Amino acid sequence: MNALSACGSADLHLHTTYGWDGTAAVSAILRTAAERGLNVVAITDHDQIAGALVALELAPDYNVEVVPGIEVSTADGHLLALYVRHVIPPGRPLLDTLQLIRQAGGLAVAPHPAAAGIHSLSREAIYWAQREVGTARTLVGIETLNGSLLFGQRSRRVARLLTHELGLAQVGGSDAHSVAQVGASVTQFAGRSAADLHRALEMRLTRAVATHTMAAPTIVADWLLRYSLRCAANGLKLPRYSPCRRRSPTRVWRLLPAQRSGPGCFGPPGCSARHAAPGRRPCHTRECQPAR
Ligand SMILES: [Zn+2]
Ligand SMILES: [Zn+2]
Repeated sequence: MNALSACGSADLHLHTTYGWDGTAAVSAILRTAAERGLNVVAITDHDQIAGALVALELAPDYNVEVVPGIEVSTADGHLLALYVRHVIPPGRPLLDTLQLIRQAGGLAVAPHPAAAGIHSLSREAIYWAQREVGTARTLVGIETLNGSLLFGQRSRRVARLLTHELGLAQVGGSDAHSVAQVGASVTQFAGRSAADLHRALEMRLTRAVATHTMAAPTIVADWLLRYSLRCAANGLKLPRYSPCRRRSPTRVWRLLPAQRSGPGCFGPPGCSARHAAPGRRPCHTRECQPAR
């Protein structure tokens, strides 16, 4: 991909203290991104847009462009909504969420597909999204490199397969929850600006590159320390998960059965049981319960 030899560099997956689990202030992320030579960053807090909007305002002071975004908790797994300026509601099936992102003028990327222990989109869900013209035009990329995945082998394998088979854009994002991780994985593209990046994603002409790595125990220890400091500064209270979500994030077991359209379900996201292949078990989305 020669066009990328003189390319811009973007981190498309970053969490701030505006989200429940981020530990880096927006200003710290922008400063670090500029120091590490990034041209564009996407702020993607869980189901929150506030940090991204603040970053948009501050960006001119740091010589880095901001793509406003959200990591949306869809019923089928996490989904990065990029180039959006308002909240995309969580908890909806993938296809509905993609339509909302399209209506908002955004693009979507599947982060950490099929990752163990994280609410991630399954391979089947991504295939189904690519069968519909409208949603296929919105879901343009797969995160083939996630700088913070502790057990990322399976996810990377699935991501590479999906980009190869579906011709989707390769995306690198740090998924940084602390400032040390900013820019750990990046997306390279022809050009330098957020508009150039948009064009490159639509044309599926991007490349994912790992720039620096931290050992998994170091990532966890660094996050735990900073998260403890954040809680201490917050009067020893855990940050709230999201105003958009009724249940508490601290009830981790609710997040664990995350792979709700799990292996064996060959229905589309949010399918009815009749779509499941004979002999296969239906997925476990609310819409996919067998008819009574
Ligand atoms: Zn995620
Ligand atoms: Zn994330």
